[in-house]
Amino acid sequence: MFTTRAVRDDGGTSRSSGAESGGDWVITGRKFFSSNARTSKFVIVMAVTDPDVSAYRGMSMFLVPSDTPGIRMERHLGLMSEAPDEGMHALIEYDGVRVPGDALLGGEGQAFAIAQTRLGGGRVHHAMRVVGQCQKALDMMAERALSRETQGSRLADKQLVQADLADSYAQLQQFRLFVLHTAWQIDRYQDYKRVRKDISAIKFLTPKVLHDIVYRSMHLHGALGVSNEMPFADMWTGAAVMAVVDGPSEIHKVTVAKDLLRGYEAASGPWPSQHLPARREWARKQLENM
Ligand SMILES: Cc1cc2nc3c(=O)[nH]c(=O)nc-3n(C[C@H](O)[C@H](O)[C@H](O)COP(=O)(O)OP(=O)(O)OC[C@H]3O[C@@H](n4cnc5c(N)ncnc54)[C@H](O)[C@@H]3O)c2cc1C
Repeated sequence: MFTTRAVRDDGGTSRSSGAESGGDWVITGRKFFSSNARTSKFVIVMAVTDPDVSAYRGMSMFLVPSDTPGIRMERHLGLMSEAPDEGMHALIEYDGVRVPGDALLGGEGQAFAIAQTRLGGGRVHHAMRVVGQCQKALDMMAERALSRETQGSRLADKQLVQADLADSYAQLQQFRLFVLHTAWQIDRYQDYKRVRKDISAIKFLTPKVLHDIVYRSMHLHGALGVSNEMPFADMWTGAAVMAVVDGPSEIHKVTVAKDLLRGYEAASGPWPSQHLPARREWARKQLENM
């Protein structure tokens, strides 16, 4: 789906070492949601450099100073809980942006591989930050349950509240251990591709865990919880954002399923391998042969 193009232009005025490294590149296109571009000295642009090969090999990355002629920040979008002037995610137009050959980040055609490596670690970081957010929400929930009395008892003494606390604790512990295990595998194998299934799994669990625990905590705070005097709005927005940023959950589920299925084979006949009549027949034959 990438349409932003970078084209070699050997006839361009070479401003630096561009000539030695194969001439300038001219970038044309648009990008939505470039985080922190507002305050960055440079941007990383991923553009199609060879439209005739697969997207995995036909895109390259460029380091481009933000003040390069032809870069226009159309506007800076914010997230839904932020004030209109706080936006940090830019819509950027690249109109014939000329960069020297050495602006290439990595090799030509390597953008996809670089992006996947960066995103692998980034996704685990998202998950780690969410472990912290969930722990904070659970701490707030426990404190509120012990502090607030209504209808003759503390919230902490009501069994439905206890169920919410127990569910949140168990969900967080499961998630925390899964994230730790994934990070441990990355350390051990130094190979994001090998750990891709678990990285995608924690990525799509991240918004769900954050959503569930923050919702219970916010709800337990009643009116105060939905007010602007508690920090729930940002956490709540975070759950929605986590389901989209660095790839929507659906895509990560597809990755997990495909990777998982690689470890299995279709049954050899019309029946599943655990079909009981066939298993019984197999066991009977084993007994006969004994
Ligand atoms: C806070 C934030 C910061 C970001 N920062 C950056 C950045 O710095 N640089 C950058 O390059 N990008 C950035 N992005 C962009 C981000 O990578 C994309 O938003 C994300 O990959 C989803 O793409 P999209 O928004 O085009 O959604 P779409 O691809 O249009 O998907 C929208 C929805 O369609 C559905 N969908 C999509 N694909 C499938 C599928 N295969 N099967 C079933 N359903 C599907 C899902 O419900 C999905 O949520 C940022 C996004 C956010 C929210």
